[in-house]
Amino acid sequence: MKTNLLNYDLPSLTTHFAQMGEKPFRAKQVMRWMHLGGANNFDDMTDLAKSLRAKLQERAEVAVPGLITEQKSSDGTRKWLLDVGTGNGVETVFIPEDTRGTLCISSQIGCALECLFCSTGRQGFNRNLNTAEIIGQLWWANKALGVTPKNERVISNVVMMGMGEPLANFDNVVTALSIMLDDHGYGLSRRRVTVSTSGMVPQMDRLRDVMPVALAVSLHASNDVVRDEIVPLNKKYPLKTLMAACERYLVKAPRDFITFEYVMLQGVNDEAQHARELIDLVKNVPCKFNLIPFNPFPHSGFERSSNERIRVFRDILQEAGLVVTVRKTRGDDIDAACGQLAGKVNDKTRRQQKWQLMKE
Ligand code: SAH
Ligand code: SF4
Repeated sequence: MKTNLLNYDLPSLTTHFAQMGEKPFRAKQVMRWMHLGGANNFDDMTDLAKSLRAKLQERAEVAVPGLITEQKSSDGTRKWLLDVGTGNGVETVFIPEDTRGTLCISSQIGCALECLFCSTGRQGFNRNLNTAEIIGQLWWANKALGVTPKNERVISNVVMMGMGEPLANFDNVVTALSIMLDDHGYGLSRRRVTVSTSGMVPQMDRLRDVMPVALAVSLHASNDVVRDEIVPLNKKYPLKTLMAACERYLVKAPRDFITFEYVMLQGVNDEAQHARELIDLVKNVPCKFNLIPFNPFPHSGFERSSNERIRVFRDILQEAGLVVTVRKTRGDDIDAACGQLAGKVNDKTRRQQKWQLMKE
């Protein structure tokens, strides 16, 4: 078996090279070829000695996931489905905006958590993605999108908001983040890389200590009764515990606020009373709210809040001095909007079966 060099960040690649008797600067060169240069073939790494290229060819590879499909939305959003083996595929989405280009990356095949309003959650779970499969999504998107006329990367921001719970795949995600931030990798700043979590408290603390990137927390409810219902993980880490973890995260965060994501579900979490509860809940956590109009999928059992409800909800938060944005729905004509990513999950949890039975 050849070693896939895409699984290494610079420190671990340097160690690997040392074990092969190679100098640290060689690891840097290879890192730059793979990530800055988009090379997946040692022959293309022209400034490496022929002998090193031959050695690498023999024992290593740069293996990116295969491309299954590419789709383009009428609004410019793009979605790639990548082959991660044994009948599984994960999705990556690029969202162009006026001042930035954001890539939304998956971290798992499916998700082991079961938030009721999420299409990925319904797909069940197969396994964690390895680092090569996570960073491979950025690799592909960079290749497809190229650079701007000013020679800047089209992808300026990365959000870990695709399929899966990134903090449940901690080590592989952290290594991938390390590659994203490394100047010999993608050179993104910590402020432009965001991890989104449904609230895995111990891992939030670990992330703060090893790789404090920007943090988004999927809040979705203003009290434990509602949150227990729609985000089952809340039973393990209830809101008070979660808010305390947010406060601790901010001590080292690259931005001085946490982003709270809040999916707007008609008649579930969108009443004026809920907005008022939220103001009290987050009073010790500097934050910004991102209200996400629910994106429907077949048999979800939920409906999107009306625009009027969303407006009233936003106004209550804003009047209390909170910063609130309403997320624009992007790419829904190609099922690329938040919560619509389903990929191809060879489910190991029998959850697909369960939901199938409920439909019948
Ligand atoms: N597992 C992580 C990241 C992936 S989900 C998390 O839960 O944070 C990215 C965001 O989309 C989360 O805030 C998630 O709650 C939200 N989301 C899930 N399903 C949705 C849907 N059907 N409509 C709108 N947003 C949804
Ligand atoms: Fe998993 Fe996030 Fe979907 Fe919940 S919202 S099921 S944590 S992907």
